[in-house]
Formats: sequence, C-alpha cells, structure tokens
Amino acid sequence: MSLQNPVFIPGPTNMPESLRKACDMPTIDHRSPAFAAVFQPAVAGVKEVLGMTAGEVLLLPSTGTGGWEAAISNTLSPGDKILAARHGMFSHRWIDLCQRHGLDVQIIEAPWGEGCPADAMGAALAADTDHSIKAVLATHNETATGVRSDIAGLRAAMDKAGHPALLMVDGVSSIASMPFEMDAWGVDIAVAGSQKGFMLPAGLAILGVSPKALAARDSATLPRAYFDFGDMLKGYAAGGYPFTPPVGLINGLAASIAMLKAEGLDNVYARHHRLAEATRRAVGGWGLQVCAARPDLYSDTVTGVMAPDGFNGTDVVTLAASKYGVAFGVGLGEVAGKLFRIGHLGSLTDVMLLSGLATAEMCMADLGWPVKLGSGVAAAQEYLRGTAAEPIAKA
Ligand code: PLP
Repeated sequence: MSLQNPVFIPGPTNMPESLRKACDMPTIDHRSPAFAAVFQPAVAGVKEVLGMTAGEVLLLPSTGTGGWEAAISNTLSPGDKILAARHGMFSHRWIDLCQRHGLDVQIIEAPWGEGCPADAMGAALAADTDHSIKAVLATHNETATGVRSDIAGLRAAMDKAGHPALLMVDGVSSIASMPFEMDAWGVDIAVAGSQKGFMLPAGLAILGVSPKALAARDSATLPRAYFDFGDMLKGYAAGGYPFTPPVGLINGLAASIAMLKAEGLDNVYARHHRLAEATRRAVGGWGLQVCAARPDLYSDTVTGVMAPDGFNGTDVVTLAASKYGVAFGVGLGEVAGKLFRIGHLGSLTDVMLLSGLATAEMCMADLGWPVKLGSGVAAAQEYLRGTAAEPIAKA
C-alpha cells in the first residue's frame, strides 16, 4: 500500500481528488467549439478571483517564473528603468530575471522579513520627475519569508507621487488564497500560478493584464515570441490558442474556480487566515518567532519559523521528510538554515494542519530544539476549537 501524507510546502499544494480528475480528461480538438466550453469559464473565473473587470486574462503554459517573463517582455524595452524592492528570494529572482533581460532595475533593499517599503518606493517615484521609471514591481506574498506586502499602500504611494509607471504584482503564492483586488489596487499585471491557491499541478502561468499594460505592448521592444500577448489574443479572438493548449490544466482551472466559488471566496480567505493564525499560535507555543517582522506583514499562506540560536531550520525539513514522510519548506537565500517554512494554503483542513504542526513538533524534539512536545499543537488546538465555524454535521 502506498500511503500519502499531506504536504506543508508553500506550493505545489495538496490537490483535491476532483481537481486531479478534472485535469485528466480525454483528448478534445482544441480548435473545435469543445475547447471554448473549457476555456471560457476558466478565463471568466480568473477575472473574478483577481477582482478585475477590464483587460485580459492570459493562461500561458508555464509557471510563475514564465509569468514574470511574459509580464516584462510584453510591456518594456531593453534599457528601460524599473523600480523593485528586494526583501526575499522571490522578489530577488524577479529582479534577476529583469536584469538578465537588460532592464535597468533601481532596487530598494529591505530586510528579509519586511514587506515592500511603500514609502521608500513612493519617494523614489517622486524623485523621478521625468518619469523614466516605466514599471514598479512588487511581490504581494514573499513566499521565502512569509511576508504579505500592502499593495493598496504601494498604489497610494504611486498616486501620491503622481507617477504613471505600470504596477506589476507577483501574486503567485497569494492569489486564490488571500484577497487580491486588481481593479481597486490599480494593478496593471498580476501573475499567479496553477500550483498554489488553485490547487492544481504546476504548468500554467495565470496573468491578469490591464488595458494600460496591453497598450504598452505596442511600443515595447523586448524580444518575445512564445509569450507574446498579441499572438495569444489573436488566438483568443479566433476561439482558441495560437498553439496547442494544456487543455486538461485549463479544465482543472475551471473546476478549481468552481470549487473556490462554491466555498465562497471570502470563506476561502477566512479559512486561510484562520489556519495561518493557528500556525502562528503554534509557533508562539513553541517559544519561537516567525520571520515576518510585524503582525501587519503576516502571510496567510506560509509561515517562516525561525530556528533558535545554534540550530538549523533545514534539519527539521530533512528529518520530517526522512523519518515521517512529511514535506516542509526550507529557508532560501539569506535565510537558508535560519528558518523552516510551513505552507498552509490550498486544500487544507484544521485536521490536516494539526498533523503538520504535530510532525514539526516531533522533529524539533528529535533534534533537541528547546520545544516541549504538545506546546504548539495545544496552542493551535485552543485557537481552532474556539473559532470553528459550526459543528460538523453528523452523517
Ligand atoms: N513568485 C513567488 C512568490 C513564488 O512563491 C514562486 C514559487 O514558489 C514563484 C514566483 C516562481 O514560480 P514558479 O516556481 O511557478 O515558476
């Protein structure tokens, strides 16, 4: 018998059986009307999840990283100046990708554990009086540290500076798990991936693109071919794709959004918040600290648990995998070894989360960390039983 534990990495996430099945469908002709019946609900559903009314949703066969590349290559030209904050591994990687494309990135450094510093970004934009900065990049949820940034605050800072730059937001580990408001926040490009909040296999970069970002394509000269929005939109207009689409994944996306809507998006966000808070209570019960510097930065999808002095966070991840068959996330880049990460997003219940917290606790005890068995689990249990929405109906 092959036994399978839930995963507690911050993506790919646990897949509900019905979504796995939705991805596994018989071949259809993607140039026939049968494809539109799969594709259109997925696109319409993504618009709802992103909170967008104008512009286009593009579903690219790729992952979040390809979404970053598509966002910049369709809107910018070699040598263009852009502004980005670096405060974790994913904000760093997007900056690196921009630099490799020949963009001139003005980097605002912030400590890992802090969010995107809206005030400093606003000051940089206010100082850019000739508007040479063409785009502002922000990572809504820095998966490496478990930090959520205030995108509405960043938009307010851009508006205060009266700056016309495009706002591009990485929502790979937030979208479909935490509130995201493309219209209200004035986001020009939002990037998501299929394997996190949408609970699907990796393979789709999911982009929301505003009319302003679509217009920027006309003058943007960065090389692009496979990810050219123009080709995609011509394909859409003809009822399909410019190339062979990953039909099963797109069918899975439509099913995922139907599942999210059946729960209710607000309920999905509330569930993530509650599971995240239970995780943070557990960390407090262990007498440890989270990586996020302040409560307003706490992520509802991933928590970075700081290792006590003299201990290595990666050891917890290694032992959990080898001894208990459970996956947690390692620290990346500057925080490698300094923390381990608990992913609590996607298809996750109270009971599943408690099993992960109990496993982390066993590993820390095994490794001699000064953590009392039961301390974190009890703190999470107290919080979860005190906040459970309704009694579970008897069969
Ligand atoms: N951005 C964030 C915030 C992420 O967490 C990730 C992956 O974990 C990425 C981008 C890169 O996405 P992918 O691995 O799907 O290419």
